Amino acid sequence: MSNTEQTLSIIKPDAVERNLQDEIKNEFKINGFEIVKEKKIHISKQEAEKFYKVHETKPFYNNLCAYLSSGPIVVMTLQKENAVLDNRKLMGATNPDQAEEGTLRKKYGISIDKNSVHGSDSNENAKIEIDFFFKD
Ligand code: UDP
Ligand code: MG
Repeated sequence: MSNTEQTLSIIKPDAVERNLQDEIKNEFKINGFEIVKEKKIHISKQEAEKFYKVHETKPFYNNLCAYLSSGPIVVMTLQKENAVLDNRKLMGATNPDQAEEGTLRKKYGISIDKNSVHGSDSNENAKIEIDFFFKD
């Protein structure tokens, strides 16, 4: 039975800054993801705070929002079977030091904050996050 899903992916400022967006987009494609929507944007700190609201009580919240709004990002809707979980697997652990070999964060991440990519963690959040960036 097919279970086509969509998930939200972000190529974060550290990766865009290093011109890695084409290489990372290619990783998604060779791993079976279709990029159905895509845009390069530079969000404000206020928008980042809204996007990461779920983390507002965390000690890293302020840095995280300052960082996500520090430069251009590429936001994408990715589609494939089991897209949410498969993207999380492809990304690897939040901390690049703990991410498995071959994962995006292992390959490209610099540190726990500059970890190159974001991916939705559930179908429910994927819908909310896709709407956040692509609702018109
Ligand atoms: N983060 C951080 N310090 C931490 C934990 C998380 O800077 O101790 C950042 C990190 O960039 C991460 C983001 O906050 O990607 C969101 O955290 P989450 O726990 O949702 O990790 P993710 O879902 O991105 O793996
Ligand atoms: Mg998360």
